[in-house]
Amino acid sequence: MMRRVSTPLKVGKVIVGGDAPIAVQSMTKTDTRDVPATINQIKQLEDCGCEIVRVAVPDKEAAESISAIKRSISLPLVADIHFDYRLALAALRAGADGLRLNPGNVRNKERIAEVVAAAREREIPIRIGVNAGSLPPGYEPDVSLAERMVDMAVQQIKLMESLDFNLIKVSLKAFDVPATIRAYQKIADKIPYPLHLGITEAGLPRAGAIRSAVGIGILLYQGIGDTIRVSLTAYPCEEVNAAYEILKSLGLRQHGPTLVSCPSCGRAEVDVVALAEAVDKYLKRITKPIKVAVMGCVVNGPGEAKDADVGIAGGKGKGAIFRKGKVIGTVSERASLEALVAEIDSFFPDQD
Ligand code: SF4
Repeated sequence: MMRRVSTPLKVGKVIVGGDAPIAVQSMTKTDTRDVPATINQIKQLEDCGCEIVRVAVPDKEAAESISAIKRSISLPLVADIHFDYRLALAALRAGADGLRLNPGNVRNKERIAEVVAAAREREIPIRIGVNAGSLPPGYEPDVSLAERMVDMAVQQIKLMESLDFNLIKVSLKAFDVPATIRAYQKIADKIPYPLHLGITEAGLPRAGAIRSAVGIGILLYQGIGDTIRVSLTAYPCEEVNAAYEILKSLGLRQHGPTLVSCPSCGRAEVDVVALAEAVDKYLKRITKPIKVAVMGCVVNGPGEAKDADVGIAGGKGKGAIFRKGKVIGTVSERASLEALVAEIDSFFPDQD
């Protein structure tokens, strides 16, 4: 797939856009004023592979907390600003590595100019984060949601460019997946700036991950998108895991292990679901890339999962361990999990 060419910029140490890897972001769910809790959650996010973290800045105390938070973390931190431009200025003073401004609720041009001047001085990028839920009234009823979102972003981009500012990223998020896709497709050809993809208010993990995978996945497959955030009503590491699953399924990033497991069928001679769940649980402690297969039968399993680094295929009271499709040993069903784990471990002699 051909990637859209965008002008790269830096959020802290992370490059977004150009030919940099698609960056994975998430947002803390703690009260930003609770500095220890926020630091703790950011560290967990970093451990699960998050590359840029955003924090909500609902008031002055939250903005000022950024400096203490920044002292204890190494991820780039983006301050999320709605309504009050003074919070953007305070977040910049406190050392934020990026700002997200919602143009739907920070509208006064002079105030935006003040924020832009402060960001320019510090070379801090600003994401123009359009959200379908906060578009201003006044559009004709026949103007589509996608067009309204694009129009809002373009107006804001023009204003920032007129202020000699171009450290810009753009997002156009809606709950409506087709409208979101159309909006990003429309803006992709109009502007040179990196695009931050997401489906907003996507929901609980089961439906939300699918909605996000459809919306974000279609765009990424078309070469659109430089950084992603999967919004889920869940613990933030679930967002990061879902983001990597989307990127891994398109071959855009490698991250941690990949579990390949067959759906099971009448030929299965083991409980594939229970075994796959047990293997998945074990794989959570591994951070390096490895493809592990759990297949229900020896006849088809090793062949169907021949690109897996290691795997197990169930047999009558037995399990066949295979590597790259070749069976290398047989163990009793009871010892299957243990034997597979030993095989996985032998892949990473120095994994802690
Ligand atoms: S690997 Fe065997 S058990 Fe699993 S779906 Fe294929 S045929 Fe069925």
